Amino acid sequence: FYSRMTASSADMERTFIAVKPDGVQRGLCGEIIKRFETRGFKLIAAKFVQASEDHMKKHYLDLKDMPFYAGLCKYMSSGPVLAMVWEGQNIVKLARMMLGETNPADSKPGSIRGDLCINIGRNIIHGSDTLDNAKTEVDLWFKAEEFVNWTPATQAFLYE
Ligand code: UDP
Ligand code: MG
Repeated sequence: FYSRMTASSADMERTFIAVKPDGVQRGLCGEIIKRFETRGFKLIAAKFVQASEDHMKKHYLDLKDMPFYAGLCKYMSSGPVLAMVWEGQNIVKLARMMLGETNPADSKPGSIRGDLCINIGRNIIHGSDTLDNAKTEVDLWFKAEEFVNWTPATQAFLYE
């Protein structure tokens, strides 16, 4: 796949982004998609789903010893989420910068969490924190046939 990218394919990356149940309930899916779209990133897979608690336990396995793990997994499976895979140069790091800090109270205005939410347990969006975790999360949430191969008309103007 990467060999078919035109520009700077060496650092083309995919990351897993999800609008959490609170973001969905608050009507923020459009706003969040808009930020990734207008930045120039490419959507390559998306689905609107209510995940099981078991699925969320796998997703957050790294946090299994944290006191908030059980409540987090229960909350994340309590309603629908918008699960997405976005692609772009250096996207794992850039998406985390767009999200802001884990705690919205520490997130700068201009970031998604800094603009749109208040509480750490209701921080509206998930984004993979490393390239390795992005690969694991993309594989956990999506099957190969769910990805769309397409070339945005804007591509030649986004990458040198
Ligand atoms: N979380 C929480 N309390 C905490 C820390 C984290 O409820 O003290 C929740 C929060 O929703 C966060 C998620 O657990 O987004 C996963 O935590 P992580 O440290 O991976 O933060 P993220 O990668 O989402 O910024
Ligand atoms: Mg995390």
